[in-house]
Formats: sequence, C-alpha cells, structure tokens
Amino acid sequence: MKHKLLMILLACSLAGCGFTGTEDTADKTDDDRTADVAGEGSLAKDAESGEKTADQNREKAQKNKDEKQIPAAAGEVVISGDGSPATIAGVPIVNKKYGVSPDYAPGEDPTAAAAAMELIAAMQSQGLDVSDSWSGFRSYEYQSELYNGYVASSGQEAADTFSARPGFSEHQTGLAFDLKHASGALLENPAEAQWLLDHAHEYGFIVRYQEGWESITGYMAEPWHIRYVGDIAEDIHARNIPLETYLGAEGGDYR
Ligand SMILES: [Zn+2]
Repeated sequence: MKHKLLMILLACSLAGCGFTGTEDTADKTDDDRTADVAGEGSLAKDAESGEKTADQNREKAQKNKDEKQIPAAAGEVVISGDGSPATIAGVPIVNKKYGVSPDYAPGEDPTAAAAAMELIAAMQSQGLDVSDSWSGFRSYEYQSELYNGYVASSGQEAADTFSARPGFSEHQTGLAFDLKHASGALLENPAEAQWLLDHAHEYGFIVRYQEGWESITGYMAEPWHIRYVGDIAEDIHARNIPLETYLGAEGGDYR
C-alpha cells in the first residue's frame, strides 16, 4: 500500500498531477468567458441588483465544484498489461497513442449496445433518417482488412486520417458505433448529425471526432462515430471537449 501511495505521489509530482492541468484548461475556456462577462458589467450590475451577483457567484462555486469531479483528478494512465485498453480513472481510452493487443476481442459491450438501440429509437421516433444496423465491434483482423483496403485505395497518409491502424481502433473496444442512414451510408446529413451533437450524451454517448479536434483525436471529423462513456457523457458534452482533453490523455498522431 505504502508503495502504491508513493508511486502515485511521484507520478503526481512528475506530471503536475493532471488535475491541475485540466482545471487550468477549463479555466481558460468557460471560466474566462464567465469572468469577462461578469467583469465588464459588474459595476452596473452591482448597482442594479446585488442579488444577481450573488446568484452568479453561487453558479460559479457550483461550477468549480463540478470541475473537481473531472476523472482526470486521478492523473494516471493505467496500462492493463493484458492487452485491454488503457484507462484513466476507469475510463477506457483507445486512440493513436493507446492501442490494444490483437487478441483483445470483447465483442459488443451489451450496455453500450442497449443504449445505442435506445438512441436510434429516439431518433426514429422524431422522423430522423437512421438505420437500425450499425458498425460496432470490430476485431483486429477485420480492422486490418479495412485499413489495408483504405491504404491500397487512398495511400497510407490519407488512410491514417480516417481509418485506424489495426490495434488502434476504438471499435475494437466494443464501445464505439458508426451509425448509418437507412440507405446504408454513414450518417452525415446535417439534421441527424446535429441531433447527435445535441442529444447523444442523454444516452451515455459522445460524438468522438469533431471538427477542430483533429490534432487531438488524430482523426478527421466523423459525425457518425459515437463512443459510449456512460454517465460522464453529460459533463463532456457540457464542456464540449475531446475525450483526450477531458481525461488528460495523450492524443494526436502515432508514437
Ligand atoms: Zn467509427
């Protein structure tokens, strides 16, 4: 036990403990905007109503409290050693930096699949164009076939922007789903894509690869690719940040 504690303390001092880093990042985005707005009008607002300022402070206190619940508080990437995904605060992470072994084949995660079915049913009930069938779990072998096909047709450099090398696909975790239109084409029409951005978190999913995040996630935007993360989806959605940023995980290109 003592050893473990020492290791954690050491990891914290080396890595600046991740938590502070993540909090800083959050401060630079949402909080700065809040602070700026409050700063600009603070005199007028004080005169108008002290109550309003008190409310804002309460909101800010609540926000700070929420920030302390970021999983990256653990600040540690746990490498399983058995070929399963690395985790941060219990959340599996697979990207170009963190792979899984060829024989890791958990199949489709049943909780995630049930949530995906609910999400699809909700979309269909609103008349949105989404198919019941998806592309979910992929074995290492299947991902090899896909990736090699893309390399053959588009070249490796291009293929790497939209297809994972075998052993680095989030689909191998059984937690990722590519949704499709009824035609079988990957879901990318604006109405459906926007619905996912607005509502996927209500079902425990995040839209994993978004525009502007390419250098962090390692992939071009994919409106159809959703990743099950469970309860933290809501917080990630509210912050509007990539999973890597949320967890304090390394992202970007292959090592
Ligand atoms: Zn996908």
